[in-house]
Amino acid sequence: MDSKKMSEEEAEAIVEQVYGEGSILAAYERKIHQLRNLIEVAKFINATLEKETLLESILYSCQGQMGITCASIFINDIINDSLFVLETSIGLIPEPKMNINEDSPVIDLLKKSDASYITIRKQLKAKAFKGFLTMNKTLKGELIFPLKMKNKLNGFLILGSKLDGSQFTSKDIWYLSTFTEMASISVENMILFEVVTLDRMTKLYNHYYFQNRLIEEVNRAVRYLHNLSVVLIDLDWFKQVNDTYGHQEGDHVLKFFAALLRKNVRNTDILARYGGEEFAIILPESDLMKGKEVSEKIREAMAKVNFSSQSDRKIKLTASFGVSSLVKSKTNDEIDLLYLADKALYYSKENGRNRVTLYNEME
Ligand code: GH3
Ligand code: MG
Ligand code: MG
Repeated sequence: MDSKKMSEEEAEAIVEQVYGEGSILAAYERKIHQLRNLIEVAKFINATLEKETLLESILYSCQGQMGITCASIFINDIINDSLFVLETSIGLIPEPKMNINEDSPVIDLLKKSDASYITIRKQLKAKAFKGFLTMNKTLKGELIFPLKMKNKLNGFLILGSKLDGSQFTSKDIWYLSTFTEMASISVENMILFEVVTLDRMTKLYNHYYFQNRLIEEVNRAVRYLHNLSVVLIDLDWFKQVNDTYGHQEGDHVLKFFAALLRKNVRNTDILARYGGEEFAIILPESDLMKGKEVSEKIREAMAKVNFSSQSDRKIKLTASFGVSSLVKSKTNDEIDLLYLADKALYYSKENGRNRVTLYNEME
């Protein structure tokens, strides 16, 4: 028998003498149970790359396993990377809307610290954290767990107190730290997924994502006999913007237009940059008339704004639209939808631009 094993057995015997027979076994059983839980939770949070679903899974896993009153999750914003946006929260009613700038001292601390968590009451007493503490009155946070990957802060989790009013134990902290390490990997994967599916300039979905998503949405709509429309948009005379004001201003106009699109669709609609100055929208649960309505709304919104990056200069811009819609038994796949929307868009271009054409309106 080797001497190391002997000494472990001796140690266990001493623990049993002090804490009673079976205590070692019970402790191991508890540990195994916790590890099993962690594996289940890991499977659960790794089941999706979709942002909202993932973040909710993380919060509910935390709440379910730890019994906490509330929790919030902030993520570094992909559109404005100097912001950490409160994406989802649970247990806070009404659900707060807030964000924290990257120059905030709390972000600085999270970035610099190697610790796996921060105790708000103990570590954020200094005057510099006053702004955060004011926000925290709404968030009711006790602990902050950074979501880091290769030293990059992707976001953080703010956890409220325990439901039973007890303090977090060192075992709770071990569990939560291990859990947030796993959650950090899922969040990193989610961000990488966003990066490969988004267009870098406009942060709308890219062509690749659009094509795949359109196939999915058409399949779903055909299976359940739901409506689905597609809008293709091409900016009118856009080359002139580049020629007159330069490529950089052209880029600004494209980003500005992307923001205008975001403001004018529902968040269940799928916005994509289809090509250079061409854009596409998938409108689930929408018939042709809804497609027309959305297009007209965008067209009207465009007429009201100045696309220039400088207020003393006016850039007016219009666009041409083509709309198609899934019609049971007629247009039944994504190729039909795109073909017809493209033809309708071409019709808009040929007939004066700055107009919306529905696929069934072409002469
Ligand atoms: P039309 O009304 O017929 O659509 O005219 P147009 O000038 O918009 O069309 P055309 O296809 O001739 O020109 C498209 C222009 O879009 C040319 C190209 O340089 C510009 N463009 C495409 N992608 C980008 C980009 O990322 N940034 C900038 N600044 N310009 C771009
Ligand atoms: Mg074009
Ligand atoms: Mg164009």
